[in-house]
Amino acid sequence: ELKGETTVVVLGASGDLAKKKTFPALFGLFEQGHLPDDLHIIGYARTKMSDDEFHERQVGHIKPPSDDASEETKSAHKKALDKFKSVSSYIAGPYDKDEGFQALTEELEKLEKERGGKPNRVFYMALPPSVFTVVAEGLKKNCYAKEGINRIIIEKPFGKDTDSCAEMMTALKSQWTEEETFRIDHYLGKEMVKNVLLLRFGNVWLESSSNKNFISNVQITFKEPFGTEGRGGYFDEFGIIRDVCQNHLLQTLSVLTMERPVSFSAEDIRDEKVKVLRCISPIAREDTLLGQYVGAEGKPGYLEDDTVPKGSVCPTFAALALHINNPRWEGVPFIMKAGKALNEAKVEIRVQYKDVTPGIFEDVARNELVIRIQPSEAIYMKFNTKTPGLITRAIPTELDLTYKQRFSEAKIPEAYEALILDAFKGDHSNFVRDDELDVAWKIFTPILHWIDGKQGEAPKPESYPYGSRGPEGIDAFTSKYGFKRSNEGYAWPKTPMT
Ligand code: NAP
Ligand code: NAP
Repeated sequence: ELKGETTVVVLGASGDLAKKKTFPALFGLFEQGHLPDDLHIIGYARTKMSDDEFHERQVGHIKPPSDDASEETKSAHKKALDKFKSVSSYIAGPYDKDEGFQALTEELEKLEKERGGKPNRVFYMALPPSVFTVVAEGLKKNCYAKEGINRIIIEKPFGKDTDSCAEMMTALKSQWTEEETFRIDHYLGKEMVKNVLLLRFGNVWLESSSNKNFISNVQITFKEPFGTEGRGGYFDEFGIIRDVCQNHLLQTLSVLTMERPVSFSAEDIRDEKVKVLRCISPIAREDTLLGQYVGAEGKPGYLEDDTVPKGSVCPTFAALALHINNPRWEGVPFIMKAGKALNEAKVEIRVQYKDVTPGIFEDVARNELVIRIQPSEAIYMKFNTKTPGLITRAIPTELDLTYKQRFSEAKIPEAYEALILDAFKGDHSNFVRDDELDVAWKIFTPILHWIDGKQGEAPKPESYPYGSRGPEGIDAFTSKYGFKRSNEGYAWPKTPMT
């Protein structure tokens, strides 16, 4: 664990990720007293700005206490903000020249000298991937602490396919050891994803039914209610599969399907994740359904975003079926669905059990275990009960655990807070190991090359209207893999998502 004199250097401190995620998470941890006492933060990027301008950006996305919070809370928050700013400074410099990093080192040494002790340095790369390697090299060469601990935190995209990822990893690994490297997939920091292992292995009834004998199919769904809205240039290079499926949803799938680890240690967990991922064959073309949104009800279509290349066939929606060839999961399709500009914001895991043997019942609904990752964390099991009253008929209801109700006092940490704290503690459990990345890419690379048009003509995605549930074929697609929607007679009595 990092104790004592620690400096966090945020590279790309002028950018979007730094402003929206890194600094608010650092502040959250700082305010709650989780970071080392003697913390200092240095922002680094090419943009020239004063410390004041930097501070303004740095705290721009930090949520203030609500209006009805007590004066005491408000004043404590303000005090923490002022202190946070007072331990943060900014240096402008290039990413590809030694002199920038040397100036950074001078600043680091100056701060460390004032504080004494063995300095630790944490480098957070909030940068576009085009400069990951050169910055990692420049940091190692010029800014590496000789006595204290060094850590580097990086985030997707880790390449665009198996080969480009391997190339990037090789270049990074020539400078930074696996022990020093923390690869973020922020889904692994989400409370509900972190909960999956506990749920599965801490409940006999769940663990004993989590296999091909009881489960018909699983859906892992990511739905966003907005389109690219002017940021399509970036998105178009990647598409929804690289943006969401290959990383976030696959990480979710791996914790959902791995065997029980020997312990909660990082290597034991990641060994099991790699093992299950290696059992997944590359996704077949016929197991895909691709979509792209078009304008509807005043909302612009993907191709109407000026930053998107004309005639792009980039998928903004994908449904994919994955198959795990091991004794536990053989024959159970895992359907990933992800899309932009859909009817709602939702990320969930939906495990659908097999039919009840007919005979005494007709058309009894299937059990479904739903883990809602966001918004409003919840776990519910759709299950059947006798209709109350003088009839003997089954009615679908739910066993429900809604976090806001059950844990009304608990503060669920932001994913980035949880992960940055783990990186400070040196706990790699919720970070992606290099061999995990390699197997993850092998599952997706063949279809991605096909979609990129590297194997002949690129497939044309089906259109779907902005604000809909996706392409028309989506329900036929999920039912092809065994999903049965049996919502008749089921109604959630409360307002959805509360
Ligand atoms: P960004 O705002 O485009 O870039 C961060 C900073 O890097 C910019 O302020 C800019 O700073 C510098 N930069 C931009 N383009 C550059 C280029 N072509 N060459 C050299 N420097 C350049 O990116 P971001 O949204 O913060 O994302 C950073 C990384 O996190 C990316 O890899 C992204 O995929 C990933 N990520 C972002 C988010 C998010 O919410 N934004 C979420 C998940 C992952 P200067 O010009 O001042 O040097
Ligand atoms: P649901 O919203 O009925 O969705 C179940 C599945 O059916 C999803 O895969 C969904 O696909 C699909 N679907 C939705 N609308 C469809 C349509 N018109 N035609 C065909 N398929 C459709 O989910 P549910 O679990 O039965 O829950 C019903 C409502 O109760 C939801 O609003 C849920 O949030 C609420 N509920 C809340 C809690 C809680 O907050 N604790 C507990 C229980 C239930 P896509 O979503 O992928 O489009």
